[in-house]
Amino acid sequence: MFVELLDKLRCPHTHEDNPLIATTAVTFERYIVEGTLGCSVCLAEYRVHKGAMDMEGNFPVPALTPELLSEEESTRRAALLGLDERGGLYLVDLLGRYSIPAHLAISPDSQFVAMSVMDRQEHAVMSICGRPDTLPFAAACMRGIAFDIDVPVSLLQSAVNALAPGGRLVAPADTAVPPGVEEIARDDRSWVAQRVATPVLNVIRRASR
Ligand SMILES: [Zn+2]
Repeated sequence: MFVELLDKLRCPHTHEDNPLIATTAVTFERYIVEGTLGCSVCLAEYRVHKGAMDMEGNFPVPALTPELLSEEESTRRAALLGLDERGGLYLVDLLGRYSIPAHLAISPDSQFVAMSVMDRQEHAVMSICGRPDTLPFAAACMRGIAFDIDVPVSLLQSAVNALAPGGRLVAPADTAVPPGVEEIARDDRSWVAQRVATPVLNVIRRASR
């Protein structure tokens, strides 16, 4: 886990927005290899082990087919996420991890978080082992998030919150598009939605209805 990502991490539990504090046992270059990420509000602790953040939640292990690992699939994912030369922080799901090297080749200034992986993805700035119900990220810090399968509503909502205005959310076609994003494209497998530019106002409007 890349040390400089720390200021973008937040406790995923429901309470005030609180940064996670790292206690490191082993670091290598600017990566935390072994340590703990702790919340000072609810005292939750997340272990960093072999470079990956351990989070609760089971995740399905996909059947890997040659098509899912193809160059075509990487190109499709890059297009859905709208990767470009501007760079930014992106989160990819369990199959998306295999596209990270190809994504970095076309968008070298971008950084990728790999979620729901069994072990550290060496090209990712952060790997999350497990499939949490809520993403551990600060509001508006990401340019794109692509889910492959099985996205609970809470996970989808936390993804919307983590997206910067204009950021893209990609999810399977059978997932309902959550509030806070506008659908911009869809095919039989996925939809792509964009974070609306006035997130705070929308939240207030929803709350006052
Ligand atoms: Zn907490």
